[in-house]
Amino acid sequence: MVKNPQDHAVMVVDDEAFVRKAATFVLQRLGFEHVFSAESAVAALAQLAVAEPPVGLILCDLRMPDVDGVELIRRFDELGYQGDIILSSGVDDRTLSMAENLARARKLSVLGAISKPLRAEELEALLAKRGALPPKSARAPSRLVTPERLRGAIDAGELEPWYQPKIDVRSKAVVGVEALIRWPCKTEGMIFPDALIPVAEANGLMDAMTFALVERVIDMSAHWRESGLNLSVAINVSMDSLYELTFPDRLMALFGAEPNLAAMLQIEVTESRLMDDLVGPLDVLLRLRLKKISLSIDDFGTGHSNLSQLRDLPFDELKLDRSYVQGAAHNPKARAILESTVELAKKLGMTIVAEGVETREDWARIEQLGCDQVQGYFIARPMAGDDIPEWIADWKTRRLALFT
Ligand code: C2E
Ligand code: CA
Ligand code: CA
Repeated sequence: MVKNPQDHAVMVVDDEAFVRKAATFVLQRLGFEHVFSAESAVAALAQLAVAEPPVGLILCDLRMPDVDGVELIRRFDELGYQGDIILSSGVDDRTLSMAENLARARKLSVLGAISKPLRAEELEALLAKRGALPPKSARAPSRLVTPERLRGAIDAGELEPWYQPKIDVRSKAVVGVEALIRWPCKTEGMIFPDALIPVAEANGLMDAMTFALVERVIDMSAHWRESGLNLSVAINVSMDSLYELTFPDRLMALFGAEPNLAAMLQIEVTESRLMDDLVGPLDVLLRLRLKKISLSIDDFGTGHSNLSQLRDLPFDELKLDRSYVQGAAHNPKARAILESTVELAKKLGMTIVAEGVETREDWARIEQLGCDQVQGYFIARPMAGDDIPEWIADWKTRRLALFT
């Protein structure tokens, strides 16, 4: 096992450029400063010999066109590689664990195997479990996202919304998208909300960020409409904005001469923050509702509200938090709460959205629960706005395969 992982390089070996790029982003976010990648076994072996700083971790696909993964592992061994290895592959679990055993038999330090598509959380959890994660202080975003840089990025229009589709459970039709903020930073790669939001919140930048985002959303919607797509778009709004009495008017001003277009917007407010003060934002919420903007309670299940508290608020939709949805699989207590929540929300006429549906099993469970809509990696990951029309066109055929 490598000590001080942050002082070593990581090498990503995968023949798919997209996978190499995604893994590089994830690893850099986790605090690995030097990430090399190789598109073939030959390139990997060549790089390994000369890498500076030396490679301490290899993320290796088992299926490579030139040399198979098993042979590649043997070559690493022959080169005297002493760092760690994580195996990744689209092959079945059994083959993966056999390869893992083989590498261990060669006394290589295999941290584990991860399935494809690569998920940031899975990789982070594995590295954390094996003590192979750089310390939090090494993580790039905390050093990167200073208030000044963030303000500059907002002003320069560098922040952009990515969009994740929402699907109707019964018809499987796309009912809308959620806009999620991203900063494609020229020098550092993609920066995600977990690094942006805390800095924005602590420095009074949330409002500016939200408005910059909505402007982009309005432009993108116009573009989608040109290709015949009328999508409702959900945006995340911080509670701080809802205390600003001018918020609804400033929002409407962005729609200029077409105020009726505001009806395509949906505003999501996080439940935990909402419960701090139910009365304060009520004025603003009601006025938004009057402008035909629909309102959604986000991350439901993470706060301490019960639905009777929410009954008197003008919300149309409830989004069950991902942890809650997935946790319900194993925990009968959580499941019971979930069931009664869904039942009550239905009686109140709310639409129920399940977040974080990642697998067919998740889908089956929330379908049985009676959720109306679904969002999650099982359907699609967030993507750039330009990719949405093509994704929707493909979805019409892909969904047939997904649900047979
Ligand atoms: P959220 O509103 O709950 O958004 C859903 C998050 O879960 C997104 O992360 C999305 O990429 C991720 N996700 C979606 N499906 C799955 C799945 O199947 N499995 C897993 N593990 N994750 C899934 P993201 O984009 O990193 O955003 C994180 C949070 O940051 C959001 O959580 C939201 O609270 C906040 N956020 C994002 N954009 C904005 C924004 O423009 N304004 C504000 N105020 N908050 C934002
Ligand atoms: Ca949300
Ligand atoms: Ca959520």
